[in-house]
Amino acid sequence: MGPADCIFCLIASGSAPAKKVYEDDKIVAFHDIHPKAPVHVLVIPKKHVATLTEYLPEDADLLGKMMLLLPQIAKTLGITARGYKVVINTGKEAGQVVFHFHIHLLGGGTIEEV
Ligand code: 5GP
Ligand code: ZN
Repeated sequence: MGPADCIFCLIASGSAPAKKVYEDDKIVAFHDIHPKAPVHVLVIPKKHVATLTEYLPEDADLLGKMMLLLPQIAKTLGITARGYKVVINTGKEAGQVVFHFHIHLLGGGTIEEV
């Protein structure tokens, strides 16, 4: 369990709404509420972890699954051919605002900085 006020924990548990594009027992992917590209999806673990820095060697399987999910979602949403960008902001000065680990998937046209 993560912090009770973590918006991504609430989305992961279904307590807050999101336009989900993928879900399994450990991972959820959903459309970003303020898209920086025509397609802007966030892939998150259901288990709360603040940043990439907190992950441990035993999380390799989960991280691998999230990474491999990105091209699958890109394919499903039709953004593979033109190219897509994958971003992980880690820490305040890197632009991280939500401190529940997430991977940005951006594509389908002009991509702004995230
Ligand atoms: P960060 O800057 O932390 O890497 O990115 C956080 C992202 O989460 C931002 O792109 C922001 O638009 C998105 N976001 C923040 N709150 C919500 C929310 O409640 N729902 C959705 N779908 N996205 C959110
Ligand atoms: Zn959380």
